[in-house]
This record gives sequence, C-alpha cells and structure tokens, in this order.
Amino acid sequence: MKVKVSVNGYGTIGKRVADAIAKQDDMVLVGVSKTKPDYGAYLAVSKGHDLYVPKEKTGIFEEAGVPITGTVEEMVEKSDIVIDALPGKKGIEMKPLYEKYNVKQVFQGGEKPVVADASFSTLCNYEETLGLNSVRVVSCNTTGLLRLICTLKRSFGVRKVRATLVRRGADPREVKKGPINAILLNPPTLPSHHGGDVKTVVKDLDIMTSAVAVPTTLMHVHSVLVELEERVSKDAVLNALEEAPRIILLNTNKLGVKSTAEIIEIARDLRHRNDIPELVVVEDSITVSGKELMLFQAVHQESIVVPENVDAVRALFKLADTWTETVGRTDKNLGLTYKFY
Ligand code: NAD
Repeated sequence: MKVKVSVNGYGTIGKRVADAIAKQDDMVLVGVSKTKPDYGAYLAVSKGHDLYVPKEKTGIFEEAGVPITGTVEEMVEKSDIVIDALPGKKGIEMKPLYEKYNVKQVFQGGEKPVVADASFSTLCNYEETLGLNSVRVVSCNTTGLLRLICTLKRSFGVRKVRATLVRRGADPREVKKGPINAILLNPPTLPSHHGGDVKTVVKDLDIMTSAVAVPTTLMHVHSVLVELEERVSKDAVLNALEEAPRIILLNTNKLGVKSTAEIIEIARDLRHRNDIPELVVVEDSITVSGKELMLFQAVHQESIVVPENVDAVRALFKLADTWTETVGRTDKNLGLTYKFY
C-alpha cells in the first residue's frame, strides 16, 4: 500500500516537494493546494496534479477557468499525511485541521519547533523519528549545517562549531523582499538563531552562528569552523565528505568557479530548475590544523530540503528502517548524483 501524501502550499518548496513525492514508488501524491489562480495553479494542473483550494476561494478559481478537484479540507481528509509548505508560521494555524482528520504532518523550517513532535534532518536523527506523528524539516541553512556536522560527527566526533552564514536576501521570484542595497545584520545581536535550530536536532552540540543577508537570490554561503574530537588529516576529511551522501565536493580550481553565480550556472546547464539538493562543499577551501577544520559551503535554499521531506514521510510511516536505506531510495528516485562532473 502506497502512503497517500498531499502538499499544502505550492510555492518554492511545495512545488519541488510535490514533484519529488510523485517520483517515489512507496508514495502517491493526492494533490496540492493553491490560494490564487496564478501561474503556479496553471503549473500544477499542467503537471497533472489534483488541485485543491480553500473553500472560500473556489469561486475565483471557477471564474478564472482553472479546474479544481476540491477544497483543502477534502484534500486533507483523503490523505495519510500532509506536507505543510505554507509560508512560515502559517502551518501551525492548519494543525487543528490535520488533527481533525488524524493525518500525520511534515512541517517546514519556517515554523517554530513546537509545531511538531521533533525537528528532523535525515543524516542526523532519522531513526529517532520513526513512527512519530509529526516532524519539522529544519530550514535550508540548518539542513546545510547539519549535513556537514553529522557527516563529520560520524567519522571524527565534533566538539564545537562556529559558523558565519551569508544568506541570500530573497528567493529569485520574490519581488517584494530585500535587501537590495545593503548588508543586513540578520540579526544584529549574536548569536543568530541558526545554531539554536541545529541544536533542536543535535541537542548537546556546542555551536554558535552569526548571519548577514545580502542582495542576491541564488544561494547561501557558510564559512564554517569546526573543532573535531580528534586530530585529522585533510585527506581523511576529504574522504569522509566524498563518501557521504547529499554532499558535492566542488573543486573551484578544476571547474574555474569562484562564485555562487557560476555554481548556479553549472546547475542551469545540468539540472531541472537549476536545483542543487546536495550541499556544495568547496573542496579547495578545506583547511585543517590539528583538530580544527575550516571550509566554505554553499546551500541552494530552494531545493536542499526536498529529499529530507521525502525521508520524513518514510520515517513517520516506518517505510525504511535506517537513514541509509531512505537516502538510497529517495536519491535514486530523484536521480541525485552528488557531483556535477
Ligand atoms: P512560498 O511563499 O514560496 O510558498 C507558500 C505557498 O503557500 C504560496 O504559494 C502561498 O500562496 C501558499 N499559501 C498561503 N496560504 C495558503 C493557504 N491557506 N492554503 C494553501 N496555500 C497557501 O514559501 P516557501 O519559500 O515555499 O516556504 C514554505 C516553508 O518552507 C516556510 O516554512 C519556509 O520557511 C520553508 N523554507 C523555505 C525555503 C526557501 O528558501 N524558500 C527553504 C527552506 C525552508
């Protein structure tokens, strides 16, 4: 029996997650929801997704001639699980509806951690979330940090993490957000909340982060300093990262790349929607001194959390027993290669 999954909210994350669910052999996509009959609604219909809308919005979809299958409430009722991809802090408002129909829930990182039974990041705590009723897939920045931290933790142990996050100001389609001519201290007080978010998954980690937002829409970049439990060689770190799933080691010298613009250009040439669900670790930035490791990494904010959303469904229905099993299945179905060339 395939698990029936619906995606509530068909924006940046929702449309990618819906495509990813439709590619899994143990899940079926019930449908997606929209509030406006705009290009996103046409996209959903053209992809053959069943479209559901809030009851009070059915009229405007009928007027616009966009075919709908039913209301959001009907979509929830038909589902075993809802992936909530509404704008941040809107998911919590929908929780009573999900509970009314006794459906499991996957929320996104824009929600507060209390929205769900646990925060979720596949490489770190998949097994701890098996069979829960709800999880919150942590944000794009937190997912990027956790992919790195849990990979290093498994091989060497991690004593301390300090990271500076250079965040994209907005997603490419968001015309009303900024900054457009500033470096925004995000926030001015330190540490930023991202370290705390990492600790919702790796609870005992010593981590502090700072963040600025800059006028770009392409990717986030992190400058990360990690103190490991043991002295390591650069080769040992390279091996651990090379063998880990969902990480691309990008050699800037080999590819002639020095910026997120060029990383996205590679993805434009190679990937659907120029998505990079893998974490991009800059291979030639990796610097080791005793127990200390420094590196740059880049996060494609629009797509990095997509595989984790698929794994979250598997965790809640115990469709795979281990994180390695779900990663293998999700990534094969998504065609992830963990490399560009
Ligand atoms: P978004 O604004 O692109 O998409 C949200 C969609 O939900 C929009 O299409 C909106 O019209 C729709 N919507 C709003 N109210 C609705 C309702 N009542 N019923 C149905 N649809 C409704 O947002 P997003 O960027 O996809 O973010 C979704 C979540 O994912 C947030 O929690 C966010 O923090 C998180 N997240 C975003 C990113 C990112 O970079 N965009 C990365 C990781 C996590």
